[in-house]
Amino acid sequence: EPCQDIIFRSKLPDIFIPNHLSLTDYVFQRFSGNGDGDSTATCLIDSATGRIFTYADVQINSQRVAVSIHRLGIRQRDTVMLLLPNSPEFAFSFLAVAYLGAVTTTANPLYTQAEIARQANASAAKMIITKQCYVDKLINLQNDGVLIVCVDDENGTVALADGCVSFTELTQADETELPKPEISPDDTVAIPYSSGTTGLPKGVMITHKSLVTSIAQKVDGENPNLNFTGDDVIICFLPMFHTYAFNALILSAMRTGAAVLIVPRFELNLVMELIQRYKVTVVPVAPPVVLAFVKSQETERYDLSSVRMMISGAATLRKELEEAVLLKFPNAIFGQGYGMTESATVAKSLSFAKNPFKTKSGACGTVIRNADMKVVDTITGVSLPRNKPGEICIRGDQLMKGYLTDPEATATTIDKDGWLHTGDIGYVDDDDEIFIVDRLKELIKFKGYQVAPAELEALLISHPCIEDAAVVAMKDEVAGEVPVAFVVSSEGSQLTEDDVTSYICKQVVHYKRVKMVFFTDSIPKAPSGKILRKDLRARLANGLMNL
Ligand code: AMP
Repeated sequence: EPCQDIIFRSKLPDIFIPNHLSLTDYVFQRFSGNGDGDSTATCLIDSATGRIFTYADVQINSQRVAVSIHRLGIRQRDTVMLLLPNSPEFAFSFLAVAYLGAVTTTANPLYTQAEIARQANASAAKMIITKQCYVDKLINLQNDGVLIVCVDDENGTVALADGCVSFTELTQADETELPKPEISPDDTVAIPYSSGTTGLPKGVMITHKSLVTSIAQKVDGENPNLNFTGDDVIICFLPMFHTYAFNALILSAMRTGAAVLIVPRFELNLVMELIQRYKVTVVPVAPPVVLAFVKSQETERYDLSSVRMMISGAATLRKELEEAVLLKFPNAIFGQGYGMTESATVAKSLSFAKNPFKTKSGACGTVIRNADMKVVDTITGVSLPRNKPGEICIRGDQLMKGYLTDPEATATTIDKDGWLHTGDIGYVDDDDEIFIVDRLKELIKFKGYQVAPAELEALLISHPCIEDAAVVAMKDEVAGEVPVAFVVSSEGSQLTEDDVTSYICKQVVHYKRVKMVFFTDSIPKAPSGKILRKDLRARLANGLMNL
């Protein structure tokens, strides 16, 4: 007889989630039929230019862009890559692609030419929407027939690069010509990239159903939770190409009628000035930002009293930091969100004054509603009771459909019973609160950004003087973790640490750079050939790097 799983569920009742709707129909549902949406309310504010877009503006602009890119040849199920910093154009483009039943793949605009090409090719992007300053990195793709759309520079003074289409022109179309494709809930709408629990970055197929479910789990229904309301002003400096910002902030805010203040990059004093000027009520952060606030001597110069909550996610946050940062925000409560590109939000804090759930510092929340969670023994796979750490598994409609063209990786991540294995080690305490204590998977998180060891190892091994290599995380006060490499150099080579770091440096975005190199005689491996990362981490911890 199969033993029963011990399943943890939210104390909030399940709600009806209209995940039969397409993403855009769901997000803008308040504006259809006899909905109560106020289309004159502010939806997006661009901090870089001061431009304000109402809900009507956002819908119309997105629909116009949809009409235009359709005219340029984008069809249902085609992929469009967004290579943009945080901007309203990012949101218009994402929504435009969704209206067409097409797919957006998001990438960091700071990626190197090679990193961009890899993702654009793997996701078969037909169009890239970017900024003029990144076009140089796209010449090869353009020569291969990928259409490049450019968001014009702020003053419109620089002429567009050869063969590029102007984004402004895309917003001139007639929105009433919007095509109305038949969109199924299981159609993919976004393909962010993530290395998941092992290996190289993979395309994560997020469907209309996954996104609608995930947003609803966070903001729909009666919920004494860290929720957005139509009165909120949410500041977004976290990168919109990452699902944390796009799903949990932008789209969730649009569903609730809140305003989002878009900030192109995090700069502490500018952010504090913006909080004061726009009376920001919600500040979503990642742990390094919390550290920056805590360390700042200048927080007193700004009026931060409008902030009612700060939410942290993307990486483990030290308890002391959580407590210290609240001293700087007199009216704020602190919450955490815990999730993963593949799983969407798994848990979030409940810390409303009158909520029936306790919140402990250091916990990353309680499991979201309309989902099942369990904690399993990492060796036996047997589900564990409260207070016993194991791998966190999550099940529900919010999960990805799978990895793009990689059924094998999909099958090892989502098992036959629908459980997604997160690769995170944690436990559930007596009050249902979840604590993440370790990571089973290879993933390194530099300030919340993903660094996949396998990607760096492949680059290292491609060096003519490197026989073998392994990359693991080393703890770091500011970044949380940094990638360091163990390298076996080929016989007789004079390879130095500098040679290795500069070789990698040229090929990857800044946070993937190898911070230290340790030369060693061999990389410890299991008989299967798998790198014994635990042994390497133990060597780091014990200062025995150059064995
Ligand atoms: P990503 O797919 O880039 O969002 O990375 C997901 C991973 O980030 C998770 O599997 C965790 O390892 C880590 N993570 C995200 N949120 C938290 C959190 N609140 N506390 C600890 N780790 C987190």
